[in-house]
Amino acid sequence: MLITDKNATETGMARLILIICAIGAVALLLRRVLTDKARSVKRDEQPAFAATARCTRCGAYVDRRLMRPDGDGFCCQEHDTDRS
Ligand SMILES: [Zn+2]
Repeated sequence: MLITDKNATETGMARLILIICAIGAVALLLRRVLTDKARSVKRDEQPAFAATARCTRCGAYVDRRLMRPDGDGFCCQEHDTDRS
């Protein structure tokens, strides 16, 4: 009687441990999927860095989208207004 009760609690514990392991595995998988999704959304929002170019007048490196072509290189907005 005592032996069968012990066996029953052991199988119960084994089942409980298996269930906990399964829940942990599912939680890990879910977390990985969610973080991958968040990362890909972040990547779509904004690039990690912007291309820069050197101003031919003051030598400052500025975001290329804010610059205007000037001769061989680029000119920053500040010195673009001096010209006109
Ligand atoms: Zn400049």
